[in-house]
Amino acid sequence: MDLDLSGRHALVCGASQGIGRACAIELAALGANVTVLARREEALRALAGELPRTHVSQKHGFLAADGGDTTALRAQVEALAAGAPVHILVNNSGGPPPGPVAGAQIDAFLDAYRKHLLANHVLAEAVTPGMRALGYGRIVNIISTSVKEPIAGLGVSNTTRWAVASWAKTLATELAPFGITVNNVLPGSTRTPRIEQIVQTRAQKSGASVEDTQHAMETEIPMRRFADPAEVAAAVAFLASPAAGYITGINLPVDGGRTRSL
Ligand code: NAD
Repeated sequence: MDLDLSGRHALVCGASQGIGRACAIELAALGANVTVLARREEALRALAGELPRTHVSQKHGFLAADGGDTTALRAQVEALAAGAPVHILVNNSGGPPPGPVAGAQIDAFLDAYRKHLLANHVLAEAVTPGMRALGYGRIVNIISTSVKEPIAGLGVSNTTRWAVASWAKTLATELAPFGITVNNVLPGSTRTPRIEQIVQTRAQKSGASVEDTQHAMETEIPMRRFADPAEVAAAVAFLASPAAGYITGINLPVDGGRTRSL
């Protein structure tokens, strides 16, 4: 199985922590030149310096950008791709704040759509001309199992994720003739700062302890534990590899069996 990413350039968004960071590490370990993107330049610079190097010519870099400013984001990533065409794009950002959909504010939807759907779109627009020219492209979107089963208390997030999944499926069909695949990885509960925040919010609301709240969430998962970010990253890296060249338009849950639907 060909998992070698030597000579490939991967752009990993939301890479300063959590799942994005784990993806950057995994792609680098398979030989890719990785550019990490998030807002905090210092954190990115440090990460780029720490990423694995499997061969002497492997180079990592960083791009400080705000996914909420789609105009600037597009210009920054177009400039990056002009200097070093991007073969692999990992679309990822912080999840929208929790809360019910009833009563959700218009601005909350607009903010989530901008940071997820629109940011993903401008990033794809910026890198796909280069992918077409190279005849190799992998776009992997980190979404959520809520694409298959909406999660209670994540109203704006659930709604936005479906929009992203529909965008991705449409794009997969359009780009398949050019050797570009578009797939979604759907993490279940994964040990990152994001899940810590969700556990704390649930604990505060219910009055239960953080430990009991986490235990109750783990009990709902057939594997009885949260994922390690590296386990999500492994699925992303596979989909980014030459080995996954005939897989496009899918939603791949990495959730310890939590999703009950087929
Ligand atoms: P996280 O909050 O730990 O990390 C998010 C990353 O995105 C960070 O690097 C952050 O700096 C970056 N980011 C946030 N806003 C940004 C912006 N405006 N511009 C640029 N970068 C920005 O999240 P995570 O747990 O690693 O999750 C990643 C994605 O997967 C999120 O969309 C999350 O909702 C989703 N997800 C996570 C879990 C989980 O259990 N952790 C489960 C399902 C889905």
